[in-house]
Amino acid sequence: MSEKFSKIAMRMKSNVIRELLKVTSKPGMISFGGGVPDPETFPRFEMAEIAKDILENEYRYTLQYASTEGDPILREEYIAMLKRDYGIDGLELDDLLVTVGSQSALDLVGKIFLDEDSIYFVSKPVYLGAASAFSLRSRNYVYMDLRDDGADLDELEKSLSEIQARGDIEKVKFIYAISNFHNPGGVTMSLEKRKRLVQIAEKYDVLIVEDDPYGDLRYEGEPIDSIFKIGGVDRVLLLRTFSKILSPGLRLGIVIGKKEIIRKMVMAKQAADLCSPSLTQRLAARYLQRHNLTEQIKPTIALYKEKKDLMLSELEKHFGNMEGFHWTRPDGGLFIWFTLPEGFDTGEMLELGKAENILFVPGVAFSLDDTCKNSMRLSFCLPPKDKIIEGVARLKKVVVEYGTEKNLL
Ligand SMILES: *Cc1c(COP(=O)(O)O)cnc(C)c1O
Repeated sequence: MSEKFSKIAMRMKSNVIRELLKVTSKPGMISFGGGVPDPETFPRFEMAEIAKDILENEYRYTLQYASTEGDPILREEYIAMLKRDYGIDGLELDDLLVTVGSQSALDLVGKIFLDEDSIYFVSKPVYLGAASAFSLRSRNYVYMDLRDDGADLDELEKSLSEIQARGDIEKVKFIYAISNFHNPGGVTMSLEKRKRLVQIAEKYDVLIVEDDPYGDLRYEGEPIDSIFKIGGVDRVLLLRTFSKILSPGLRLGIVIGKKEIIRKMVMAKQAADLCSPSLTQRLAARYLQRHNLTEQIKPTIALYKEKKDLMLSELEKHFGNMEGFHWTRPDGGLFIWFTLPEGFDTGEMLELGKAENILFVPGVAFSLDDTCKNSMRLSFCLPPKDKIIEGVARLKKVVVEYGTEKNLL
């Protein structure tokens, strides 16, 4: 059979995080692995009430095929929300497409922009879901190292000018950036960098794909204008999702961009799945009308902030005075990027972690070239507080065990 698979299928690999999920349920396991929201934060009773109502009274819509572009009521509500909460103005219905989560938006972006020789920019470390969607189409990625204030734009400029010099600039399709609380990096791109990124993209006439699933989960500091707001609809394609603020089970993502791009994505989506589920689209639409999402996520934000502060202080306690150990201090989102001295291999350490009942995601999962081996992604959103304390202690044990065995400490 295997010789029948397409070249693209041959390149497909099982996602490390999906594999991890299999051992997460082992009794006594503490997982800093999965980036999934705490189920207690889902507004289940409010959603149940709406679900009953829209099934009984709007069944002609909710149990039927929807348009590929998506529920017009949801798109209208979303436009109103972007205007009210983000100062993004002037959007029309045709600038929005509802996808099956942002993951399918990333896949559609890959399909409509990337040929085998296409070039695109991603950060290092890179979000696994984007890396897998893009790299199936083209392996010509260019890295920008992730710094504390976002991707290294000097590297971006240097690479772009080299690509231009060798006459390949037409092959550069987009720059992929996570503006807020990077997954897995935990860092946020500064306002200065966002402005500079737009300037660079304009200079070389490249599209920016801004992925912003976590912008609403800010625990510290003031919100920063989105790259989309700075660069405008002609320069930036904005990807948003209900997954991290309402529920990932709805599988709803929103793409906002230039009509020409949205139209092409609609064509690609028709081949992929015809339309996003009408039922969950209408559910989200009525939810936005009847409830205030910003208010609803306040307790979630308070809860995650406490857990984040706790994990940071436990890391400080156990690793603060160990040379070569450092980690990011996110202002929001779900992740801390923890880097160990050279020589530590977090992929190998995961086996020890499983034995000690502590899970994390090895850094190599967030690279396209088998690097980032001495880092790991830690998520603080799911474990209860006592498990965060216990989990970091177990992590220390794994680090000491591995480090001693390999003579790294
Ligand atoms: C979670 C996440 C997504 C998308 O999730 P969906 O559930 O498919 O909407 C996209 N990008 C990043 C960076 C994420 O962390």
